[in-house]
Formats: sequence, structure tokens, C-alpha cells
Amino acid sequence: MTTEHTVDDIASRLLAMRAGDLPTHGGRTLAYVYDSGIAEADALGREALAAYGATNGLDPTAFPSLLTMERDLVAFARPLLHAPETAVGTVTSGGTESILLAVQTARDANPQVARPAMVVPTTIHAAFHKAAHYFGVERISVPVDPVTFRADPAAMAAALADHADRVVLVAASAPSYAHGVVDPIPEIAAAAGAHGVRFHVDACIGGWVLPWLERDGLAPTPWDFAVDGVTSISADLHKYAYTPKGVSLLLHRTPALRRAQFFASADWPGYTMLNATMQSTKSGGPLAAAWAVVTYLGDEGYHRLARTAHDGARALAAGAADIDHLTVAAEPDTTLVAVTTDDACDVFTLSDAMLDRGWFVQPQMAYDALPPSLHLTVSAATAPLVPEFLESLRAAVAEAVAAGPVVVDPQLRAAAQALDPTTLDDAAFDGLLGLAGLAGDGGSVAVPSRMAPVNALLDAAPPALREALLVAFLDRLTR
Ligand SMILES: *Cc1c(COP(=O)(O)O)cnc(C)c1O
Repeated sequence: MTTEHTVDDIASRLLAMRAGDLPTHGGRTLAYVYDSGIAEADALGREALAAYGATNGLDPTAFPSLLTMERDLVAFARPLLHAPETAVGTVTSGGTESILLAVQTARDANPQVARPAMVVPTTIHAAFHKAAHYFGVERISVPVDPVTFRADPAAMAAALADHADRVVLVAASAPSYAHGVVDPIPEIAAAAGAHGVRFHVDACIGGWVLPWLERDGLAPTPWDFAVDGVTSISADLHKYAYTPKGVSLLLHRTPALRRAQFFASADWPGYTMLNATMQSTKSGGPLAAAWAVVTYLGDEGYHRLARTAHDGARALAAGAADIDHLTVAAEPDTTLVAVTTDDACDVFTLSDAMLDRGWFVQPQMAYDALPPSLHLTVSAATAPLVPEFLESLRAAVAEAVAAGPVVVDPQLRAAAQALDPTTLDDAAFDGLLGLAGLAGDGGSVAVPSRMAPVNALLDAAPPALREALLVAFLDRLTR
């Protein structure tokens, strides 16, 4: 076939575009990506992804291979999560979809509840906020313990008791994304169980690590289906199972608990739509890739990888705690580390200084009583680089301290705190994006090379304004 561009030309343009992204491999990107450091596993995953890219999970009877692989993955996960014989599972496109489905299922299993609500700790992943928003389930957020960052089971039980007639779901994390700590699952389960309410454990990021840490006596247990009252668990394979993006597992304790997750419609002239997930047509690629990688790495491989990442996270946390101006928010329960800084060291300047040194670390803004912090997701491939990481961190802290804190113009700070985003029009947002340093050429927006001034301003803004500004930014970015 003749086209305007040759295959080689397009392939090299793809590569050239990728060069501007964060690296997905090599262990220097400590958020968004997960690297086992095992090249054969990656290659296998890519091959499976390509081989199954055009298959369609819309109809499992038409592509029985996909059903087989889904059942195999669920079967692999069940003993890891101490699931009973009755447990069932679904492969979804990611953690968010697993969580959306858990919330939607809880809501739809309780049609008698007119104003459904869920009780969650403030550290629950924002995917639950999205679920609340999409499905009209009120989110009752309960502050976590400000010292341990763990959910407060007594406060959650009280919230549950206050709204017992309409709470359809309780959720907690194993571990939380922001601080990497496992919530007190047995205590929360007892409260949920006492009210006969479903309890979802969000193990999106810990579900493929904790089972192996448990074997080494390193996990805060029990946290999974071993706890009576845990009714569902989400565990992402595209995180610590090191599979290509687009795969998570959602397990329910019984088929009855899952039933409302399924959707069927025969009320149109086409095929009867019958879905277990939110997507209808869905590529079998990510599922096949996950099946291949999980089969290849297997129980032993994951045991080693979990231990490597965990030990790396512990070493990183211990090293960071030794650096002046830094505090480790909580001893890591799994493979995530959150680091806070003192007033002399600006968190956002520090993350820029790390990027200059070739490390991506993720800034997290202040929230409630919780200070801003750096989030570090430690992959197996990062573990051997921890000494080098700590050297860079020490130098970056010195640089940030020397630079001094980012000063947000006091007037701008006052304005940010007083603005009601619901009253702002498009022109006002254009002006604000300019003030925030996000203006590009000709009314467009651009990502600046130094994020610290932007982050410092956003950090000073209340969450509702942060959300509105970032939505306005995304809107313009995608015009
Ligand atoms: C990653 C994550 C999610 C959301 O998953 P996505 O795959 O990004 O949609 C939910 N909860 C926790 C704890 C996570 O780490």
C-alpha cells in the first residue's frame, strides 16, 4: 500500500514522541509506572498485547480464549487474597473501573435506599469520589488519624451508625496511595458487618504485594478476605503485577454480592447487550498481556519482586529520614513512601530539583491537617538504585533549601483563598491560568518546565478551586 508516510517514518515518529515522555522503564520514575526490571516479562507482555489487540471481550462466547484467561487470573488471585470457595472475580480495565463497579454494584443491590451513601476515610483514593459523583452516592469522608494516617475505625463506625439506614458501602485502603499505610481492616469490617453493610478493600496498589509480604511476616495482616465482613477487593495487575496498562481485578466474596454488577439490555433491535464491566467492546490485549506476564512471573517471581520493592522502599524511607529537613510520613507498610519537608525546604522546589537529576517524584498538595508531601512508588527496578536516589535527594534538598521557599504573592494567595470557582467564567479562568503561570502562546496553555510556582499556588488554593483550575487547564490543553 502507498500512503503519504512510510512505515519506518511513522515508527520513528512514534519513538521520537515517546522521547518527550517520562521513562516507563529504568526505575527512575517513582509514580505512574511500574518496572519489574525483567526484560523477558516486558517483551512477553508486549507480544500478547499486540496479538490480542483486535479481539473483543464484548462477547466471551465469541472469544472463549478471553474467558479462559480471565478465569485463570481470578483463580491465581483467589488464594493470594484468602478468598473463600464462593468468591468470584472480574477483570476490569483498571483500578478506577474496579472501584466504580464496586460502588455501582453496592448502590444497585440496595434499590430500596433513596439517598445512598458510602463511608470512607479521607485518604481513600479519589476514584471513590468519581464513583460518588457518577452514581449519585453521597460520600461521607471520615478524617484519618493525623499521626498514623490510618483510617479511624471508631469514627467510621460512628458515621456508619449515624447514617445506618442509607449507607450501602464502606471502603478502606490496603494501602492508601498518599501515605502507603494499610487501614485497620478488621476493626472497620466489624463495624460494617454489624450493620450488614458491604465493605470494599481497595488493594489496587497493594493487592499484588501484600500476599507475598505476608509470607515473610512483613504484612499488616489480616487485611483481605481472611477478614469476615470484607465483601469485595480490587487489585490492579497493571501496577505490581508489572503487566501492561489496562488490567485490574475486582473480586466479590459471593456471586450474589456481584450480581448487580452485571448489565443486560434486550430493549433494542440489536444484539442483547450483556456486560460484566463498564466497557462493552473491550480489547482482549491487556487481559492477554496480564495472563502472559502473570503466568511467566508466577508465584515465585512475584514473591521475589514484592520483597525487592518492599526492601527498597524500607531502605529509601530509612535513608530519607536521615536527611535533614525531611520526615517520612509513615513507616511504609508496602512499597510506597511519603516524605514531608520542614519549612526551610519547599516540597515543590524539591520535586523540580529531583526531575533535574533525572528522577520523577510526585508532589502531593496539603489536604486538611495533612501537609504537602512527595509520593514515591518504589518498583522492583528502583530498589537497586536506592543509594543513587538518596544521593540525588540529598543534593536536591540542599538546592531547595538554598533556593528558599516559593513565595506565592500574598495578594494572589488571598485571592485564591477567597475565590468561589462556581462564579468564574471562561475569561476569569483564562486570567487565573495566566497568573498561575500556565499560559502558553495565543490563548493556549502550556506545562511550564518549573512546576514549583504552579504547585505552590495550587497548594494555597482550597481543593474546590484547585479542581476548577485544573479542569480549566485540561479543557484548554485538549482544545
Ligand atoms: C492506582 C490506584 C487506584 C486507581 O487505579 P487506576 O488504575 O489508576 O484507575 C485506586 N486506588 C489505589 C489505592 C490506587 O493506588
